[in-house]
Amino acid sequence: MALNPVIRKLVDKRVVLASASPRRQEILTNAGLRFEVVPSWFKETLEKSSFAAPYEYAVETAKQKALEVANRMHLKHCRTPDVVIGADTIVTIEEQILEKPVDKQDAYKMLSRLSGKEHSVFTGVAIVHCSSKDTQLETEVKCFYEETKVKFAELSEELLWDYIHSGEPMDKAGGYGIQALGGMLVEYVHGDFLNVVGFPLNHFCKTLAELYYPPPKHTIHHIKHDSIPSVETFEILSDGECDSSDNTSCKGAQKQKSSRIIYPSGKGINSNGNFNMTVESQNGVKENKTQFPAKLVQLLDGFKASKVLFVSSKLKIFDLLKGKGAMTSVDVANCLKASVRGTERLLDACAALGLLEKTHQGYSNSDLANLYLVSDCEFSLHDFILHCDDRIWPLFTHLELAVKEGTSQNHFAIGKKGEDLFQDFYYQNTEMKQHFMSAMHSIAKMTARDVASAFDLSQFRVVCDLGGCTGALAHELTQIYPAMKVTVFDLPDVISSVSSFQPSRQNTGQISFSSGDFFKDNLPESELYILSRVLHDWCEEKIHALLSKLSAVCKPGSALLVAETVLDEKGTSPARAVLQSLTMTEGKQRSVLEYKQLLEKYGFTSVQIKITGNLLDVILCFKKVSPR
Ligand code: SAM
Repeated sequence: MALNPVIRKLVDKRVVLASASPRRQEILTNAGLRFEVVPSWFKETLEKSSFAAPYEYAVETAKQKALEVANRMHLKHCRTPDVVIGADTIVTIEEQILEKPVDKQDAYKMLSRLSGKEHSVFTGVAIVHCSSKDTQLETEVKCFYEETKVKFAELSEELLWDYIHSGEPMDKAGGYGIQALGGMLVEYVHGDFLNVVGFPLNHFCKTLAELYYPPPKHTIHHIKHDSIPSVETFEILSDGECDSSDNTSCKGAQKQKSSRIIYPSGKGINSNGNFNMTVESQNGVKENKTQFPAKLVQLLDGFKASKVLFVSSKLKIFDLLKGKGAMTSVDVANCLKASVRGTERLLDACAALGLLEKTHQGYSNSDLANLYLVSDCEFSLHDFILHCDDRIWPLFTHLELAVKEGTSQNHFAIGKKGEDLFQDFYYQNTEMKQHFMSAMHSIAKMTARDVASAFDLSQFRVVCDLGGCTGALAHELTQIYPAMKVTVFDLPDVISSVSSFQPSRQNTGQISFSSGDFFKDNLPESELYILSRVLHDWCEEKIHALLSKLSAVCKPGSALLVAETVLDEKGTSPARAVLQSLTMTEGKQRSVLEYKQLLEKYGFTSVQIKITGNLLDVILCFKKVSPR
């Protein structure tokens, strides 16, 4: 739930954060923003001396990061985002810019310079609005920066080295992270605390407010813009309804105008991540109120929102509304043969979640729904959504039991006990197999482009996609690499049903299908083997069997490409992967290091990992050339 209406304005937009920083992601997630993460490839190598002031460097870097992502998404994936947010945080002391330390000695130099002194933290932010005209990308860029002063205590050598050995300084501007251990080094903070963490949320919301709600002149004098205007005030400014006859919301606004919310600048965040906010009432009395934390609200309501998506997809509401003008709830209810009362509530919930648009005429699909929820659109997630409802939802209903027993509760979801997730569960009858394949096909189409283009694979002519299912990735590979021939290898049950998933424009000469069991049967000869969304499903013993076999058939110099969601070193993010683990299959998600160690154990070297920002990350490694 987005508590702040400026954030809510972004709900049905494709918002992209051009930053891999988990801290920025957390700040924006806590604020209720929904966004994709596409880390920028822009190298932070601008010539610092060419900028008159340090903040100009941070702003320009933020802008270049955001523009690089906007351009890449537009060109490479034909998926132009609506808004790209770029940010760059630097620490400056005596006019010199400190970025991330390159090693421990560098961290030592930085931290001893900061010891006992005040320094400035600048975050430059760029908000890039994108549109596509005649296939050209058009951008409008709004930039700002925020400065926060931080004073360090005098640091003893011992404290300094303890902190450096904790490993925390290494990926942080200035060599410290104020939100964790680094907080111990700080004597005071003047200004926005979150700015030091990596993202000036308050200034960001104010800037969005300026962009989306230029206030009518007759109301602006009531609001002091040293704070983010309160919810009702924004609602009123948005639609200019104060002049209209419907004055219910205007009354609310007037009430709000006489109150002013003062947001904290730094020390107002308590240990639960809540904002303690001071509200100044009409008679000037200041009260301390603890706002209910946005993150918890989001978690509390998350399951309801998921179920709204599942049920409206199952009822094919987005198909019904596709290409039509707005429909009333009565018309929709009639078409669905459902109650008007229930339908109206579901449609309203969809509108509140940004899946539908609601006007006086009725309900129509949002862009998001037209792009991804209509069942026959190119990137439809419809079948994957039904899979989540039918197969994953029951697993989570029995999560408590799963945790207590430490085992998957698939038998609840699928109705019988068995050992092999695929052969005993998903493929137990033709209908279930078809549903599973459709679900995989729909999610694979979303990820295939990023997987296929994460590395330059043009050197490989003969490729085998093990567990390649319907061939969605194979199709994408052959589009990008015209000289490549791909064999999709999967269980006989799957291969016998792939024909209905083949696109009409597919170059059939490049793709072939081969059936077999990758644990038992011979694998087709290949220069590159692919395991996409396969390894995480299997226990160590099965992985050992599969990787030993691959290691034996791979000739030196040939390669293996693994596509999985990669955890960070602490195993804490992205949340999606960690949540997926709770389905308690025999397998598990792994971190960058764990994949590297696993692959090296089976004789694969030069392990490279690309974090794509999509649902799957990609790992490429090569079979070691044995010494003569
Ligand atoms: N690679 C596809 C993707 O990325 O979307 C599908 C991933 S799906 C989670 C796992 C695939 O592995 C399924 O298509 C399944 O049929 C296949 N599979 C499972 N066990 C197999 C086996 N023993 N031999 C061959 N394929 C198998």
